Amino acid sequence: MIKVATILVIEDELKIQQIIKAYLTKEGYEVLTASDGAQGLQSFKENQPDLIVLDLMLPQVPGEQVLTSVRQNSETPVIILSAKGTEDERIFGLNIGADDYLVKPFSPRELVARVNAHLRRLKSNPTPTMTSFSYNKQKLRIDLAKHQVYLENNPINLTPTEFKVLKLLSQAPGQVFSRSQLVEQVQGYNYNGFDRTIDSHIKNLRQKIELNPEEPQFILTVFGLGYKFGGDPDCN
Ligand code: CA
Repeated sequence: MIKVATILVIEDELKIQQIIKAYLTKEGYEVLTASDGAQGLQSFKENQPDLIVLDLMLPQVPGEQVLTSVRQNSETPVIILSAKGTEDERIFGLNIGADDYLVKPFSPRELVARVNAHLRRLKSNPTPTMTSFSYNKQKLRIDLAKHQVYLENNPINLTPTEFKVLKLLSQAPGQVFSRSQLVEQVQGYNYNGFDRTIDSHIKNLRQKIELNPEEPQFILTVFGLGYKFGGDPDCN
């Protein structure tokens, strides 16, 4: 028996939601719908869909935060469907983890074609090929599958939060993350504004992974902006 793929559509405009649902159902998919970001995240956790179609301007929790929450522990393909259509907006969406971006007004047939393409790719390549990343000639190695970090081949014990911070920064070397971005992406969307807590996580992380925490190589401060990862990814 072939299992039918499940698509979660998070879209607050009911008319668009119903059109997408009709097209995807006709294509043979099981379709779940949510009309705001919080409901969408809830459904994602409960139903583990195979792909998500995500609007950005959503009540409760905006689409960008839905996406970063999903990306904390899942590689489920996400196609953004948004009226935000500038180049910067599209690049931002892809940078925070979307696999594809469609600008409204959109063609439902094109959306279906893209859903098919992403699911086909997933099928032909079912497990993520890269789960271990190393930097600065193997000095630092991060095994995402095992949630383990090695410094010069010695295992380092990180707290779950420290691991998440390191994972986030190291997956985008050189990209600057503000404190609030880090807190939101690491702690989820219930960010209450105590963004200095991230500084103590960074401090502890440096104590553990930097050979000299006073002159960090990996977790760099970008004055007035936040933090970035300074390691050089090894080619492997
Ligand atoms: Ca909307």
